[in-house]
Order: sequence, then C-alpha cells, then structure tokens
Amino acid sequence: MSRPVLVVDNGSAGRRQRGLVAVCVASFEGVGRTTSQLGSAAAGAATAEYARRLTSLVGAGDQLIQIHEAKHCLLLRCLCDEQEAAAAGSRIEATFAEPFRFRDLAIPLEVRAGIAWGVDQDADAESLFRAAETAREAARSSDRTVQLADQALLADMRRRWELNDRVDDALCRHQLKLYYQPKVCAGERRLVGAEGLVRWEHPDGLLTPAQFLPHLQADKMMALTRHLVRQCIRDLAGNPWLPPLSLNLDADIADEASLLELIMDELTVWHVDPSRLMIEIPEAGLVRRLDRLLEGLAALRGRGVRLSMDDFGTGGAALARFPGLLVDEVKIDRAFVLGVEHHAAHRYLAGVMADLGHYFGMTVVAEGVETESAADCLQEVGCDTLQGFLYSPPLPLDEFSRWVARQPEPGDCA
Ligand code: C2E
Ligand code: CA
Ligand code: CA
Repeated sequence: MSRPVLVVDNGSAGRRQRGLVAVCVASFEGVGRTTSQLGSAAAGAATAEYARRLTSLVGAGDQLIQIHEAKHCLLLRCLCDEQEAAAAGSRIEATFAEPFRFRDLAIPLEVRAGIAWGVDQDADAESLFRAAETAREAARSSDRTVQLADQALLADMRRRWELNDRVDDALCRHQLKLYYQPKVCAGERRLVGAEGLVRWEHPDGLLTPAQFLPHLQADKMMALTRHLVRQCIRDLAGNPWLPPLSLNLDADIADEASLLELIMDELTVWHVDPSRLMIEIPEAGLVRRLDRLLEGLAALRGRGVRLSMDDFGTGGAALARFPGLLVDEVKIDRAFVLGVEHHAAHRYLAGVMADLGHYFGMTVVAEGVETESAADCLQEVGCDTLQGFLYSPPLPLDEFSRWVARQPEPGDCA
C-alpha cells in the first residue's frame, strides 16, 4: 500500500491562526472506466489533470496530501466559519465541472469529495479524516461531487464506528450467535430443517440483524460470517439430532475463496455430511453476481452442500437463467406469504413460483407463515416446506433442542 505523500504545503506556523480547520478527502472515480473505454494514456492524463486541478485549490495555510494517485486529502486552514467550509465545497464542484479535453475527447472528471470541519487544535485529526471519508462515501452513493459532513451524518457515522469497534470484542465474548428457526414439511408439518439467523446478545438487549448487519464494514462482516460458519458446522457436528441447517451468506462475500475454503475445511475436520448444510443467498444478490457466485459455489455444491435462493420473487431473477441456476431450493418471500389466505393474487403467484421451482427440480419453501389458514393455502398451491412464527421464532440452540424434543419424529418431505 502506498504511503501518504505531502504534495503541497502552503502553510507556515506564523500564518496559521486558531480558527476552523476543514479536511477534504477527494478521489477521482473514473480511472477504471476511462482505462477500459479510452485506454491507459487517456486515464493517466485524466488522473494527472485531476491532481493539477486539485492543486489549484490549495490556498495559503493549506496542505495537500496524496493518499494514492487518485485520492487526496486537502487540509484547509484559516477558515473563519462553516459558510467558508461550504464555500470551499462549491469551489471544488466548480473546479471539476468542466470535462478534461484529451486529444479530441471530452473526459468528465468524476470526482467525489467529502468535507468535515472542526475548530483547529481541538479537532482530532483522525476523527475529522474519518468524518470526511464518510461524507465522501455519502457523495459516492448519492452521485454528488461534494458532500459536507453534517451533524446527522456525523452522529450516524459515530454510531457505526462504535458498532464496528465492538464486533471483535462481541465475537470473543460469544455474543454473536446463530438462533435456529424450524422448517417443517407442508404435508405432515414435521421438522425437516432449520435456518440459522444471527442475533447479537448485546449487554443492552438482543439485537436483530437489521440493527447491525447493514452497518458492518466489509472486514467485520467477513469476521462475523466466518464465526457463524464455524458455529453452524460445529453445532451440526456436536448435535446429530439437528436437522439440516441453512446459513445465510451475503452475496458480496459468498464467493470469497477463503470463506469457501473455511466451509470445506470445517466440514472435513468435524466430519459433517455436507448435505446437512445449505447456503441461502438472497435472489437480488444472486442475480447481481450470478456468474461469479455460481462458479465460486460450484465446488461446494460438488461436495454436496445445497444452495437456496432466498427472498424469491423480490430480486428480479431473470427467468432465462433458471435452467442453469444450480439451486436446490427457492424460498418464496414473505411478501407473497403475508395474507395469502385472503388474497387470490398472492395465492396465484405463490402457486406459479412453486410450479416454476418444481419444474427445475427445486424444493419450494414458503417463509413467514404465521397462521394455519396461510399454511393450508401454501400447501394447496404446492409449497413443500413451511417456515414461520406459526411453528416457532428463531431460538438459541438449547431452546431449539427443547422445541425439537416436543415434536413428533422428523419426517421426510420428499
Ligand atoms: P431472511 O433470511 O429472509 O430471514 C427471515 C426473517 O424473517 C428473519 O428475520 C426471521 O426471524 C423472520 N421471520 C421468520 N418467520 C417469520 C414470521 O412468521 N413472521 C415475520 N414477521 N417474520 C418472520 P431476522 O432474523 O430479523 O433476519 C432478517 C434478515 O437478516 C434475514 O432475512 C437475512 O437476510 C439477514 N440475516 C439474518 N441472519 C443472517 C446471517 O447470519 N448472515 C447474513 N448474511 N444475513 C443474515
Ligand atoms: Ca434466509
Ligand atoms: Ca428470506
């Protein structure tokens, strides 16, 4: 990784005065696209032009630091108030508004910048940098050139940092656990599987996935997923009475070689029959990364691990891709299951999805089943397996074992 390089230092101790200091993190986003569309000479020239224009913004007392070729940090000193910090944002926008002319081409300089400010000396440099980075991320997701780190953004960011900072500790303390929710076969309503759903047993109360998963940084998500893979496979190994377990994987990491290796290794080391494990990936993510995922997961499937397409009906699965999907199970999303007993349209759609799944040899699961009448409807339209609060919420392993003990012998849904 390249080390930051001080490009321009326009400050001298004498000229600096106590006042507002703003940190701007800027990046040129178009390098990859320019390279693939126009070639590396054009991309190199555009990157140099981006750096030149950024340098033109360095005023008295300011510093420009290069993080890497297409990413910089601009320290803006001698600002008097927040309006001046905002004005600096407008200057950045104006500086990159015009495309760069290269030979007879007009190349847009797609720059994304975040600005955070604080009072000089009081402001902790790292916090300001992280705030500016967060604002830059916000600029990227909203397709704006500049985003100022306002109070709401900063408060949100602080909450995210705190959350992410606590993940490692929570993993060590075994506060992050899989709870298991039973899946029953539609005919006899007997246990045929269970889905692992993560819970954070936080000292302040139980956190559901929606409260922390969307806020995790990629490295924490990976650490958590590895932890859950181990828990799931070790639970299978230590509890032969457990039915096959499903594990949810985020589509963005489900083809990571190190994760796939971990799954294989854990299955081998703990002598767990791979057919006792199923991987669930939401339809939207599966469709978005279909080719890469299928390639990555083919080896797991080859070993006998089964694959499930979660939230079916919501993620825009391209029907033309169905024949090559290599998926063993589809889970009809709760949106179609909710009120299925009252809405003929939902019933019809659930039936169509069940037929589609069956045609391609998949098991069809309906999730979010809350009433007996919904369960009956779903069975009638052809769903093989039912899952929902009607049977049980997700439970910690020991409670799940008590739930299982109260059930009739495991059935066979085939
Ligand atoms: P999902 O995979 O679609 O899981 C089903 C969600 O519906 C779960 O919410 C479950 O508790 C809830 N549910 C089950 N039956 C019923 C019901 O009858 N009625 C209602 N209203 N809800 C029901 P949960 O546990 O809060 O999980 C939410 C989402 O978080 C999951 O949706 C999944 O996308 C994600 N998630 C959960 N655990 C993991 C995990 O270990 N890894 C990853 N990557 N994602 C996970
Ligand atoms: Ca799921
Ligand atoms: Ca689902």
